[in-house]
Amino acid sequence: MNDSFKDECAVVGVYNCKKAAFLAYYSLFSMQHRGQEASGISSSENQKIITIKNRGLVTDVFNQDNLMQLKGSMAIGHNRYSTAGEDSIFDAQPIFARYGLGEISVVHNGNLINAQALRDMLIARGSIFQGFMDTEIFIHLIAQSNKAILQDRILDALQQVKGAYSLVFLSRSKMFAIRDPYGLRPLCLGKIYNDDGSCGYVVASESCAFDLINAVYIRDVLPGEMLIFKEGNPPESLMISERKIPHPCIFEYVYFARPDSKVFGRMVYSVRKEMGMQLTKEKPVEADMVIPVPDSGVAAALGYSQASQIPFELGIIRNHYVGRTFIEPTQSVREIKVKLKLNPIAEIIRDKRLIVIDDSIVRGTTSRQIVRLLRDAGAKEIHMRISSPPTISPCFYGVDTPNKDELISARMDLEQICTYIEADSLAYLSLEGLRNSLKCHPDELFCQACFDGNYIIS
Ligand code: AMP
Ligand code: SF4
Repeated sequence: MNDSFKDECAVVGVYNCKKAAFLAYYSLFSMQHRGQEASGISSSENQKIITIKNRGLVTDVFNQDNLMQLKGSMAIGHNRYSTAGEDSIFDAQPIFARYGLGEISVVHNGNLINAQALRDMLIARGSIFQGFMDTEIFIHLIAQSNKAILQDRILDALQQVKGAYSLVFLSRSKMFAIRDPYGLRPLCLGKIYNDDGSCGYVVASESCAFDLINAVYIRDVLPGEMLIFKEGNPPESLMISERKIPHPCIFEYVYFARPDSKVFGRMVYSVRKEMGMQLTKEKPVEADMVIPVPDSGVAAALGYSQASQIPFELGIIRNHYVGRTFIEPTQSVREIKVKLKLNPIAEIIRDKRLIVIDDSIVRGTTSRQIVRLLRDAGAKEIHMRISSPPTISPCFYGVDTPNKDELISARMDLEQICTYIEADSLAYLSLEGLRNSLKCHPDELFCQACFDGNYIIS
């Protein structure tokens, strides 16, 4: 799998709101954790679509002046995740195009698994691609469809793609929000009460976007649902395919989503805390204190501490002004970045037996580095507890994971990993424990392929 084809990110769509681009901007700001490589917004005022996008954080790309240029009551926006591959402006979104029916712009979170076949087919028909993203494929399929109206052309395109997608399309007068039939990636719907008494609507990857703009969470966009926003009305709902059994991404709860978001109908914070409680039940150990790897392990560590009655301490402090370490292409740079980011408080942990909670081990670099930092700071024992099962398989549906041979749990057993990270003990939450934390009905399914290797779409 080519790293550059990956497409993790945040999407937002704002409909029927004054200064929609400003609301999209705030929403993207609150979802910055889902992507830091590039950011962009398209807006429309019934006449034409204007797009501004660039590499960098939301606050690097936008300012008062360029946001003022994004006029109109409809806007869509996107944050792109950093990957090890292409890092080009052509891979920033939204993707805008002029085509047979006028103007269109699109934002996408997810990954198509038949992207290469579609790309080859489109190139053979004469299409020219600017970047490497799956998202451009939607534009070409829509442009080449022979259907008379945009809605039907989008449906036509969706029949041909396979994979994970939460999409928002903007035309000059309408907005369409779509979730793939398995509901792999999140997308929720909110309402905004405008000053003049009218209602606006917003769709976003995570509900934390709604909090900042005073939108009220209504519900998730359903798996396989298209919401059509037009003529200032509440959205019309249309199912895009026959019913499939939804498989939303369980990893959103483990790591990707913000804890103050509601994802797939559940508060992420509560789920993560419950994961820590389950972990205490499954993998108890005697120790003097529970410390989280900030920020990803905080909620689970609180749960572990409360259930075990072992005191919680912030034994490691995180410097928030350094990007995430996972994204760096070479091992040595990654190691330096861990040190830049995390600093133990020696006075707290010296001579103590520690339970260290993190959400996941991917390559093992972070854990090994953390264990070393804690030992150097005088910790007596270090017991790593991970609030998810071993990550054994890569994700093909839009979460950035390395190739299988780089996943430490695909190469080593528990004992070997424990030795590699130099901990006194290591234990993971079971898949059953993870599902218990979600308090799901036995029939409720999730995609958990990175933990069990069962891919629902192939
Ligand atoms: P590693 O050093 O590769 O084992 O990285 C593990 C760390 O990366 C954990 O602390 C996780 O919080 C974090 N992590 C897990 N999944 C991802 C992801 N998809 N993108 C970025 N970071 C991640
Ligand atoms: Fe989520 Fe893992 Fe499935 Fe990817 S493979 S969609 S990260 S659960």
